[in-house]
Amino acid sequence: MEMRNLGKGGPLVSRLCFGTLTLSPLQRNLSPLDGARLLIHARERGVNFLDTAEFYDNYAPIRIAAKEIPDLVICTKSYCYDEETAQKAFEKALKEMGREYIDLFLLHEQESIHTLRGHEGALRYLARQKEKGYIGKTGVSTHFVSCVKSARLFPYIDVIMPLINMSGIGIPDGTADDMALAAQEAHDAGIGIYGMKALGGGSLISKRDAALDYVLRQPFLDSIAVGMQSREEIDINCDIFEGRKPEAKDEKKVADIPRRLIIDNWCEGCGACVKRCRQHALSLVNGKSTVDREKCALCGYCASVCPVFAIKII
Ligand code: SF4
Ligand code: SF4
Repeated sequence: MEMRNLGKGGPLVSRLCFGTLTLSPLQRNLSPLDGARLLIHARERGVNFLDTAEFYDNYAPIRIAAKEIPDLVICTKSYCYDEETAQKAFEKALKEMGREYIDLFLLHEQESIHTLRGHEGALRYLARQKEKGYIGKTGVSTHFVSCVKSARLFPYIDVIMPLINMSGIGIPDGTADDMALAAQEAHDAGIGIYGMKALGGGSLISKRDAALDYVLRQPFLDSIAVGMQSREEIDINCDIFEGRKPEAKDEKKVADIPRRLIIDNWCEGCGACVKRCRQHALSLVNGKSTVDREKCALCGYCASVCPVFAIKII
């Protein structure tokens, strides 16, 4: 597995980052022990970097895995917005993951220079923990090109996790090329960059090889977070990241896993997915999108138009 420095001065991370939302109660809802087993298996395959968030509610498997894997590099994120909420989020992460140090702590889903200015108190708190040696690096995750451009202006931002994929799915204010240019400029300035949603939140699964090839070819992506929920998915992604064809037995096993569409509770009821579904499998019930499983063909088209990534096929 290729290792790269995540921005100037590291840390040294595997090009494949384990996106752990898949393990969480929001998605596959694995037991802490089963989740930890997958993290340990990924480490055995060379993946030393994982991405989590306070919102994912999955610190328990990470705590178990981290006992076995002392060199795990952990990035967590929080919707904290001022000093007080940042302190709570930071202390919760330390306690629930059983750590005295967090490698990377990001503000989750920042949108623009205005959001960053409004949340500067939280960034300042995290930067102080960094000065004291309790956090390695601080930064932001974002879906917005404008946020990637603005983040460079803030001294506390060492790492950015931007949304990037070959189709630009989910970037509200630009194209994939716009995001790549902004991220490249941030990287040139010494900021660590690791990408999210390379598979468009599941909607590019049918084009997996092309979608992963696109992100692997981006020189500014020090690492790329990919959600994984089984040993076979880990093995397939490790093979692809190492430039090998995945084994047919792993592909078959993943293909045989029954898939289902889930709509997360943060659905905002905009109705875009309902209009997109040609099978008429979606409708709005009490302001939330709801699926009729009898009609759903699991094509994933609806997921590609959801502005908040509330739809996934897992
Ligand atoms: S996956 Fe396809 S068929 Fe199923 S709800 Fe979405 S658009 Fe409709
Ligand atoms: S597109 Fe997303 S936010 Fe809009 S109704 Fe569908 S699931 Fe909800």
